[in-house]
Amino acid sequence: MNPNFLQTPIPYLKGVGPNRADTLKAELGIETYRDLLHLFPNRYLDRTQYYKIAQLQPSGADVQIVGKIIHLKTVEQKRGKRLVATFVDETGQMELVWFRGHKWIRENLKINEPYVVFGRISKYGSTFSMPHPEMELLSEHQQGVKIAMQPIYPSTEKLVAKGITNRVVGKMMQQLFIESKGQFPESLSNSILEELRLISKSEALFNIHFPKNQNLLAKAQFRLKFEELFFVQMQLISKKLLRKQKIKGMPFEAVGEKFTGFFENHLPFQLTKAQKRVIKEIRNDLGSNAQMNRLLQGDVGSGKTIVALMCMLLAIDNGFQACLMAPTEILASQHYTGLKELLGNMDVKIALLTGSTKKSERTLLHNQLENGNLNILVGTHAVLEDKVQFKNLGLAIVDEQHRFGVAQRSKLWHKNEIPPHVLVMTATPIPRTLAMSLYGDLDVSVIDELPPGRKAIKTVHRYDGNRLKVFGFIKDEIQKGRQVYIVYPLIQESEALDYKDLMDGYESIVRDFPQPEYQISIVHGKMKPADKDYEMERFVKGETQIMVATTVIEVGVNVPNASVMIIESAERFGLSQLHQLRGRVGRGAEQSFCILMTGHKLSEEAKTRLQTMVRTNDGFEIAEVDLKLRGPGDLMGTQQSGMLNLKIADIVKDNQILKTARYHALQLLKEDPRLEKEENIPIRKAYSRMMQNKTIWNYIS
Ligand code: ADP
Ligand code: MG
Repeated sequence: MNPNFLQTPIPYLKGVGPNRADTLKAELGIETYRDLLHLFPNRYLDRTQYYKIAQLQPSGADVQIVGKIIHLKTVEQKRGKRLVATFVDETGQMELVWFRGHKWIRENLKINEPYVVFGRISKYGSTFSMPHPEMELLSEHQQGVKIAMQPIYPSTEKLVAKGITNRVVGKMMQQLFIESKGQFPESLSNSILEELRLISKSEALFNIHFPKNQNLLAKAQFRLKFEELFFVQMQLISKKLLRKQKIKGMPFEAVGEKFTGFFENHLPFQLTKAQKRVIKEIRNDLGSNAQMNRLLQGDVGSGKTIVALMCMLLAIDNGFQACLMAPTEILASQHYTGLKELLGNMDVKIALLTGSTKKSERTLLHNQLENGNLNILVGTHAVLEDKVQFKNLGLAIVDEQHRFGVAQRSKLWHKNEIPPHVLVMTATPIPRTLAMSLYGDLDVSVIDELPPGRKAIKTVHRYDGNRLKVFGFIKDEIQKGRQVYIVYPLIQESEALDYKDLMDGYESIVRDFPQPEYQISIVHGKMKPADKDYEMERFVKGETQIMVATTVIEVGVNVPNASVMIIESAERFGLSQLHQLRGRVGRGAEQSFCILMTGHKLSEEAKTRLQTMVRTNDGFEIAEVDLKLRGPGDLMGTQQSGMLNLKIADIVKDNQILKTARYHALQLLKEDPRLEKEENIPIRKAYSRMMQNKTIWNYIS
């Protein structure tokens, strides 16, 4: 085969003209033969079976029936018309229905000729109907290629509207296999193929598109999933190796006066074992010649901040500057205040930079950064702006990573001539398999222990009807001197409605908790930062007992005296969000509570989320459930959902394959790091092509 065959632009394929090519590109990103070849079916239908109309069940399944159209009519309905065909076989009659494309269908349908119709069955009254069936004349159907398992390709409304139905995609695929004679270059080595008993690439591609039976389909899927995950791991691992070899880090050899001084005179508590271990791991990295890229995972409240501070002191001891970035202004300013407090009278210059820092202050700050007078900069995304230049940034810490895109992480690298060490801290525990895929290029440290004396938070689920009781409970807690959060959902799509809910809720709370006995703060995204800070401040100082808020307090805020978290419309939050919110309480010595409020209408998934929250406080367990419920894309938040651009593998369901793939990638890179051995040439070719096209990952910096 011509080596460039797969690069052929898709319009060259017989049956694809420029119009279809445009649609394929816009809807599915298909531009070349290779792209089409890698359009894998979502699912398969068993087309060995033919149903009789009398056998049909209202199961919503796709079925295949042989029969004839005996009558066609147009029915007027509220909006537009529908075309209805009466379809019969020897056992009964049903309807075929079209809501679009009437003219074309009317002109092309043949009355009283045997057809094979295929589609999803629904039932209206006593009549079965099949909307927009796939139709083929029985005579043609009998001549066509017989495939037992019918592939169903990813589709969109636009594709169908432009006539690119599943059948048409199937035809294109056939054409592609005819032109290529079904021969495609192998991309794995013989030893891997043999060891794992994988079928060849050509066989796999054939059987993924035209499976002869279930068994071959399973083999094809296994082979292609393995390959996909294998190359992802190759990329991550080699990136990490490369970084360790090539990118010189700035060695922090000295443990100096700042670090020791803090440890001896300012540390307000004993570090937990886990904190000590993590600091040691980080110090090892920093002391070596390589650049650190480490992910620090620790559940909410596990004490990541102090770890961050001690690392920054280490940087200062070695003559470098450090910065700490947080995803929100509130969080950044809380870090700033918190760090200042921890540092006490130590001679460390620290400043805050956010979107609302005044221009005059900003200019001053920029100067101090550039001439090295400032040791630590705390801030939001504002830190990433090009204007912000350091004299010698040695360590960059990113808190609550899931709010930051990977692109932003890489921007940090360019803040210094030699890239600074990077520590990414996240409170969203990431299941191991996912961490392997998302952060395979990072080293990982885990704080798996909470500071002593914490009482497990008690979590309950209450229906809205019990609100008065819940309010009574809040009053008791406030009586005892505690503070309370009441959180409302804020989902972007229904922002206006959500604000209405929030304000309605706020008013009813104000009625039930009248001044002057009760003081209430409110914080939401539409407020000016200064007003938010003011309200936050009042709550932090204990001047108000109730904080009504949208999810802006989701991450990081630390008010140890707050012991009750009420989450309104809890069914609308995702698990990791619920867990984050709950983590706002339980930070002091008192027993804390989390109350999940909902109405009675709950989806099964929402019930699972609520039950999980009630059952456990373990962030890792929650993350596992979350991953199963939502899949990996969502788990990381919208910013990163595009990251795992997998075509066939699913890192939740296929995590066994993932482990195998990682193992083999590690093995290979150990034995033949440059892929020079004869037998690894297929891998090298496939890999370098992927790196050129960035087909696996287009985000890696
Ligand atoms: P997170 O990991 O969620 O960022 P923080 O760093 O905000 O957690 O710490 C949560 C609380 O626990 C803070 O009030 C902090 O002062 C306290 N803390 C952290 N480490 C310890 C420790 N070893 N012993 C006692 N309290 C600690
Ligand atoms: Mg934190």
